[in-house]
Formats: sequence, structure tokens, C-alpha cells
Amino acid sequence: MEAVNPKEGALVELGRLTEIVYERARRRYTLRWLLRSRKREERAPVLAYHACDDKKCPANGKLVVVSNPRATRASAPKSLRVSYRETHWGRGGRGKMISGSVWSGRPPLVLEGEVVSVTYTTLKGTDRKSTDYEHAFGEGASKGTRVVRPTLAKGGEHLVLLGGTYVVTYRGIVG
Ligand SMILES: [Zn+2]
Repeated sequence: MEAVNPKEGALVELGRLTEIVYERARRRYTLRWLLRSRKREERAPVLAYHACDDKKCPANGKLVVVSNPRATRASAPKSLRVSYRETHWGRGGRGKMISGSVWSGRPPLVLEGEVVSVTYTTLKGTDRKSTDYEHAFGEGASKGTRVVRPTLAKGGEHLVLLGGTYVVTYRGIVG
């Protein structure tokens, strides 16, 4: 699997979302998903990022959570395959599009808290099996830059990551 939901713009899968840790009023909360669950609603969402043709697009390199992901037979466009390969250290996906759903502006968002870390599972480079990649926000930010962690919000069943100074690069999530 590779690219996601062409209607939502150019989204590329980073991996399956398995954990989000966030903070609200100095308390920590953890959301966890199972990679293989019999219950459909527990199926892990896809953690994707926006990979836009427009290099100046402000959403470039920003994370998007795709709920209820399903494989399709449609092939991903070349630019998205290239992006997938970059962020998976030379490793290609199956080159197929995924369908799923993202928050579409409704219902209104409810803010949950500041995201401390996200963990996604995927195969990069020479990984022999699915590997957890955890990112703590603020990690890898260049010295002297102000770090703003993204805010987790819920829009009905959908999760949204708002803002933040991080960006997705070939190194993974940076900042
Ligand atoms: Zn864009």
C-alpha cells in the first residue's frame, strides 16, 4: 500500500498508526491501535503525509490520519511512489492506492491535547519485518528553533493533527 485518497490531495502512507501519546492539563493519555484486529473499528488507521506537487504548499510534509483504510486495485501516480520510496529509505510499497476517510470539516473538532509522540509501523530500507518508528515531537529539531508540538483533535470518529513545526522528510518525522 502506498498512496491514499486522491480526492484529499496527495497523501502518502508513512505507516500504520499504532500509538499517539498526548498531554492535557499535565496529564498523559495514550491511544493505541492493534495492527490485526477482528473488530473493524479497531483497525489501525494509516498515518499519511501530504506530498504536494506545489512545493510552497503549507501542508507539505504535514501528517494526516486516515481512518478505515482499505486496499484498492488502483495504481498510485509516479510522484507519490517516489515520495513513498524516499520516506521508506529506498523501499517501495505495492504501488497501490488506499481508500479511507479523513475529517472533512464536519463535525466540529474537539481539541484533545498536545501530542507528545506518535508511533507508526512500517517497513523501511532493509527491515525484515514491520518495525515501530516512534517520534517524540521536538526531536531532531535544529538547535535554537522554536518547537511547537501538534495538537490532537477529534472530529467525530476522525483524528486530526493540527499545526506543529515538524515536517516529514526522508529521515521520517523531524522536529
Ligand atoms: Zn498541497
